[in-house]
This record gives sequence, structure tokens and C-alpha cells, in this order.
Amino acid sequence: MTSLPLISVDPDGRGRRPAMPPRHLADLDLPGRQALVTELGEPAFRAKQVSNHYFGRLVRDPERMTDLPAATREKLAGTLLPTLLHPVRELACDDGATRKALWRLHDGSLVESVLMGYPDRVTVCISSQAGCGMACPFCATGQAGLTRNLSTAEIVDQAVYLAGVAASGAVAGSPPRLSHVVFMGMGEPLANYARVIAAIRRLVAPAPEGLGLSQRHITVSTVGLVPAIRRLASEDLSVTLALSLHAPDDELRDELVPVNQRWKVSEVLDAAWDYAATTGRRVSIEYAMIKDVNDQPWRADLLGRLLAGKLAHVNLIPLNPTPGSRWDASPKPVEREFVRRLRDAGVSTTVRDTRGREIDGACGQLAAAEETDSDPRAATA
Ligand code: SAH
Repeated sequence: MTSLPLISVDPDGRGRRPAMPPRHLADLDLPGRQALVTELGEPAFRAKQVSNHYFGRLVRDPERMTDLPAATREKLAGTLLPTLLHPVRELACDDGATRKALWRLHDGSLVESVLMGYPDRVTVCISSQAGCGMACPFCATGQAGLTRNLSTAEIVDQAVYLAGVAASGAVAGSPPRLSHVVFMGMGEPLANYARVIAAIRRLVAPAPEGLGLSQRHITVSTVGLVPAIRRLASEDLSVTLALSLHAPDDELRDELVPVNQRWKVSEVLDAAWDYAATTGRRVSIEYAMIKDVNDQPWRADLLGRLLAGKLAHVNLIPLNPTPGSRWDASPKPVEREFVRRLRDAGVSTTVRDTRGREIDGACGQLAAAEETDSDPRAATA
């Protein structure tokens, strides 16, 4: 009697890997794109032409790629530029200076990105995962758990798409060119390490290979995955590191940022200081101000002692409301006292603006819940 191989037995399908999206030119570096174009039977230089449309001119419609022979436009664009982000909804506030985009991915997952225009710069906040597995109790994304990692191109395309929105002049009073990218949307970027690094390489490579942003204008925010922070320091990239600290003591941080149960405050700060020493970049310490939870004067003093003399800047974030949360933002006088104590300790500190709150686009509010009553398909049901 022959026995059946057991390797493919997975009755409840739980071992299935989530389906990744189709390959896109932003998944590949320029030589990779050239190889792909050659496989299609086209001359390699077409890869540069299509890349220049996408990254240089922010054009993705094959009709507008008039330097390509009409007969091959569709084939090239279809292969190199499959649609990855299907727009579901775009919301604006702050007179159009803040815009939140909700996308549906090829497998139905939902992710969000936020565009923020300022007088001197345009920033996009992008997602690196659908959902998040880090389970921070005050963050809306953390409540739903992780659906899947985004592909490199799904990450890059958020920035390229919103760069196109900025270039169209949609953000009045801001420069038309996207200048800053922050990995502060949904997901834990360092938990999707290889794809996030590849995405950063595309964002900083000059056109036509990439978007040509400055490394210093890219910020990677993390809950503090220590081995990944150390690995990031060893890449030849000097992006800004933001560390979501939220508490200076292990007892509270174990609760607010559960990954602290694995890597303690002292370990994560050591990794941050090593990152600062290697890259010369000041580390941004993120601290959401939560009323009566982490906003006591003694915690400000403890934080001040941990950070004094280090290459660090504290960003206090007034807690943004999330559905069902039992926590509130700290009152302004408490916040002011916290800032005063940190500054007295010699630590540079600012309070972050709460851009996008009205559209649930602010820090920790990106949950990608699609309200059925705003879904056009619901109206036909
Ligand atoms: N997972 C990464 C990237 C997300 S960045 C990280 O945690 O760093 C989003 C930032 O907003 C993080 O600093 C996060 O801790 C913070 N945040 C999450 N929920 C928030 C809330 N409700 N109010 C204010 N800030 C919040």
C-alpha cells in the first residue's frame, strides 16, 4: 500500500500564504525591469521610458506614453504597471491641505495613506502592511490585527499616486512636489523589512529608476524591533528613525507597546543611539500623551534623564480618539508641563499637530473601516 504524501494536507486552509499582488515595475530595480522588458520581446530601453513616465512624470495611463509605439503601449503598461491600488474613497480636511485616501488591494484588503501639505513641503504618510500585528491598545490599526504585508510596489505606489495629486495642484498653498515620506500609516514597517527597504530604495533612487526623494526626508517609524533597527543601521541609507516609545518605564511600556515584553526600553534605546551614531541622524522619539496614563511629571523627568545628551528629539502626539478606546488625550496644561520638564532636561521637544483628525486620518486612527453607507455599491443593494 502506498502512503499519501502529507505535505499538501491543510484542511482548514490556515497554512495558506496570502496572495501577493501582480508584479509591478516598482518591485524591481532598473536592471530587473530591463530584463522583464527583454523577456517580452521589447528592446531594453523601453524599461527606462516606462519608468520615466511613472516616476518622472507621474503618468500611468498608456495613452499618454506617446513616445512608445502605439502597438506596444498596452502590452508594456499592462505588464509593468498593473493597477495595485483601487481608490475607494478620498477625504479632505484643513481646506484640502490634508487628504486621506482609502484603497482596495487586489485581494480586497483595505489600506490608507495621508497627504499633508505645508507651506514649505508636502508629506505623505504611507502604509507598509494591511492591518498590524503589534497590538498597541491605543491604536486603531493595532486592534484589527495583521492581514498581510504589502508588496514593495504597493508601498511605493501610494507615494507615487499622491505625488501625482500634489503635482496636479490639488494642495493649495503648498509646493507641487512631494518632498517627504513617513512610514507612519498602517502597519509596522520593520516587520515587513525587505519590502520596506526595497520601497525606500525606489523612493530615493533618481528618476527614472525611482522618485528621487532625499534619504533624509524619509522617516521609518517603529515600535522598536531591535534586531531590525540594527539591520537598518547597516544599510547604506540614512533615513530618519522614529521610535514609538510612549513610556519611559518597562512596566507601562509592556502594556502600551506590547513588543516591549520582548525588547525592553533600555535595549531599544541602545539600538536607537547606535542608529544615531552610525547614520548621524537624530532619532525622533514618539510619545502619545494619554491622560493619567503616561503623562505624569515623574515620567517626564524619567524620560528627560533617558534622553539627555542623546541625538534625539521628542515628538509629543496628543492622543487621537479611536473607536471604543478607554483613553483620552492629556489636558493642555499637563502637556505643557511635560514639555517644560523635558526641555529643562535639555531635550528638544515639540508637540505634533493633529492633522487629519476630522477624517480619522491622524496617527493611530487608520483602521480602514469602510462604512457601508458611504459605499456607492451599497446604494444599489
Ligand atoms: N507601527 C509603527 C508605525 C505606525 S506610526 C509605529 O508604531 O511606530 C503611527 C504613530 O502614531 C506611532 O508612533 C503610534 O504609536 C502613534 N499612535 C498610534 N495610535 C495613536 C493614537 N490613538 N493617538 C496618537 N498617536 C497614536
